[in-house]
Amino acid sequence: MTKTALVCGAGGFIGGHLVKRLKSEGFWVRGVDLKFHEHAETAADDFVIGDLRDQNFVRSIIDRRFDEVYQLAADMGGAGYVFTGDHDADIMHNSAMINLNVLDACHKRNIKRVFYSSSACMYPEHNQLDPDNPNCSEESAYPANPDSEYGWEKLFSERLYLAYNRNYGMECRVARFHNIFGPEGTWEGGKEKAPAALCRKVAAADDGGEIEVWGDGLQTRSFLYIDECLEGVLRLTRSDDFEGPVNIGSEEMISINNLARMVIGISGKDLKIRNIPGPEGVRGRNSDNRLIREKLGWAPNEPLKAGIERVYAWISGEVARRHNRQ
Ligand code: NAD
Repeated sequence: MTKTALVCGAGGFIGGHLVKRLKSEGFWVRGVDLKFHEHAETAADDFVIGDLRDQNFVRSIIDRRFDEVYQLAADMGGAGYVFTGDHDADIMHNSAMINLNVLDACHKRNIKRVFYSSSACMYPEHNQLDPDNPNCSEESAYPANPDSEYGWEKLFSERLYLAYNRNYGMECRVARFHNIFGPEGTWEGGKEKAPAALCRKVAAADDGGEIEVWGDGLQTRSFLYIDECLEGVLRLTRSDDFEGPVNIGSEEMISINNLARMVIGISGKDLKIRNIPGPEGVRGRNSDNRLIREKLGWAPNEPLKAGIERVYAWISGEVARRHNRQ
């Protein structure tokens, strides 16, 4: 029998790629989102536009048993959206509603396997003050102290999924993503993440000019290419004895200025970096992959540069197209 999957947030970056991956494995896929995918035609068999904050709508799309449900929908964005504080109420309310509705509708249809994407933003701020030695091991999550309301909502929802496992015999799986990047993601408008923002700035800059980088550029992060993220998601979802939460991220930590230098190097342009004040989040963050290696016998290992090259090629094409239209 053909296997079936539901992807909530299928019009988004990771959801769009996940739909493609599930289709390549022969699944029948229903995608749901507030919007169609902005950068690619959907590969889903059935794509439904609707609002997952609406309980009746959620019940209408979870109208059968799915073999796998992936809950990726969230009100989110890059540092420019999450860390200014201006969107806190929406972020918490919208994402919590989505998770409450989707999980309960799955429970009531007797769907057991639901994947939920949490975020490294739920880790305590005090463990991420040293850019060279951040601690993001899974057990460091408590006592909790995320630096954003986005992180607090993720923490609440992680616990919600695992509570349904305990109380209702569900088999939810929870991963904490660390900065996923790739082609066909948001690259402008304020919700884009650092790799996409830097690729756009470099692609748009004139040779010999400069680009602006938020903060002093010494803040560190790691970035995971979308294909490896999906590999981790599917391995975790299909694992029979491990529910998470577990990090899905790269351990190749880099400062934001060095990431900018990497992009500039790939572009072949001669550009200077100008550090300007801006929202930057915690000082340091890196994935800790000991648990995923131990539990799933797998961890991402592709060098960051290989993924950045692909994304730069895609974004510079988008920037050129935009320029030609103007
Ligand atoms: P994205 O913004 O591209 O996708 C999220 C999708 O959810 C969007 O298409 C949006 O329209 C949809 N959505 C939001 N509210 C909705 C609603 N009320 N009803 C229906 N759809 C709604 O983000 P993404 O990068 O693909 O992230 C997917 C998931 O992974 C999110 O839960 C996010 O918090 C988590 N995550 C992502 C990263 C990352 O680096 N991309 C890091 C950590 C966690």
